[in-house]
Amino acid sequence: MTVSRRTLLAGATGASVLALAACTPERPTPTPAPTTTPPVDPLRPVSIRRSDWTGDGFAQGATSFLPVGETPDRRDDLAAPVDDRLFFAGEATSRTAPSSLEGARESGERAAEELLALAEEGERIAVVGAGLAGAIAARRIRDAGFEVYVIEARERVGGRIRTVDGAGQQPDELGALWLREGRDDVLLAALEEAGVETELLPRTSVRAEDRELDAGTTAEAVEMLAGSVAAAAAEVAFDLPVSGALARLAPLDETPIGEGPSPREAAALLTDALGIDTGAEARRLSARYSLDERPTGDRKLSVGGLQRYVDLLLDGIDVLQSSAVTAVQREEASLGLRLGTGESLTVDRAVLTVPLGVLKSGGITFEPELPLTNRRGIAALAVGYLETVWVRYSEPVWTESAEAWSLVPTDGGALIRTWVNLQAVTGDPVLVGVLSGAEARRFAGLGEDEAIDVVVESLAPFLRG
Ligand SMILES: Cc1cc2nc3c(=O)[nH]c(=O)nc-3n(C[C@H](O)[C@H](O)[C@H](O)COP(=O)(O)OP(=O)(O)OC[C@H]3O[C@@H](n4cnc5c(N)ncnc54)[C@H](O)[C@@H]3O)c2cc1C
Repeated sequence: MTVSRRTLLAGATGASVLALAACTPERPTPTPAPTTTPPVDPLRPVSIRRSDWTGDGFAQGATSFLPVGETPDRRDDLAAPVDDRLFFAGEATSRTAPSSLEGARESGERAAEELLALAEEGERIAVVGAGLAGAIAARRIRDAGFEVYVIEARERVGGRIRTVDGAGQQPDELGALWLREGRDDVLLAALEEAGVETELLPRTSVRAEDRELDAGTTAEAVEMLAGSVAAAAAEVAFDLPVSGALARLAPLDETPIGEGPSPREAAALLTDALGIDTGAEARRLSARYSLDERPTGDRKLSVGGLQRYVDLLLDGIDVLQSSAVTAVQREEASLGLRLGTGESLTVDRAVLTVPLGVLKSGGITFEPELPLTNRRGIAALAVGYLETVWVRYSEPVWTESAEAWSLVPTDGGALIRTWVNLQAVTGDPVLVGVLSGAEARRFAGLGEDEAIDVVVESLAPFLRG
């Protein structure tokens, strides 16, 4: 439920309505419209629709990751409550499942529990940010009997969940799109209860430039290599990047192992997989910790619209949209939240769920400044990048039946190497590409014609010539 600014701000205590200079809100991203191409060449899609998290002022990136030399303790630093009034949630604060929906869910629960352990009857509580972490926290606080207001910068809820109508049976998920069996079971059960369907992606087809690789042998080779990288990282007293740990292994052979990849190809596939999970390049990722944080369960794709789950969580809760918080003022017995509109409100406690990128960019000022512990967490964690592209054909121009496709990275090769084949999942002739790190940023910066060219070039190994 959305609430009028009048209702919410009129409910604020008198002293809280401050006279403020107008602030410029950060740039939100418009709804990406599909780009339609003339169907001259059958290998060119009818339309594509891409995300732009790289240029999104209320996300400032896609994920959080541990760069070389940092430890998971920095996530606890970021999450440390301040003055028993200000609590932190969001995927970046999750030790167990960072950079994921599950991390957002788990952190929202944790922050709500921390707050509820201290809140007294009748207190006014705010949750800043209406992504999954904020929606979970708000639901938990509301269900405990408190008045809770959600303050959201965008004119929509969901944050890095971005479900838009697609032309086929399933909506397009421009942000998070799949969950992992095992790690994400609590969330998968909640989605099922909410009627949001997910479909398993059981088979992956892996192609190198010149041949198809056996999926089972490839998965085993990549797992073995991940073990070797972890062992190489554990052998040294200092942390090193994943690329550095790979370089410490004996020179990687280029001879394929049976029907599977060569060790060099396995290394390229491992760094790509880590990139998709973290949004980071191997040269930046901590070898010591990023392999531990790596999810391994089978993927389940959302085909029912993740947005619906967020809407259900927020049902009956007041959400003030288009209201970026620009400052958090800590008073002795309250918190002042200043909005980009020039308005403000006073609450007893708040949960802050804005993305790490927003905190790092100084999009919110803290008065007085945050304690050193929180600032250390914000400074130490790094922001990763992911982008998705939904590619629609009038009919399938591929014969591949596996649900997931993967391309071995090569120098100057395909930019988009991770694909989901919705034809195999829902019957729609739709392919979904996911990019990470520097390549995600590069793709986000392309014009529409260039982006379509990249899509077609990247898909070439799978499309009928
Ligand atoms: C392209 C992409 C693909 C992904 N794929 C997957 C995947 O397949 N599986 C998976 O598990 N995870 C995936 N993720 C990660 C997942 O989407 C996030 O971890 C999760 O959605 C984060 O939720 P959150 O609530 O922590 O943050 P957010 O969803 O970012 O919510 C934070 C909210 O705060 C709001 N906000 C920002 N600044 C302000 C402000 N100043 N004042 C008020 N509000 C503010 C934002 O608008 C936003 O609504 C993906 C992410 C991206 C971008």
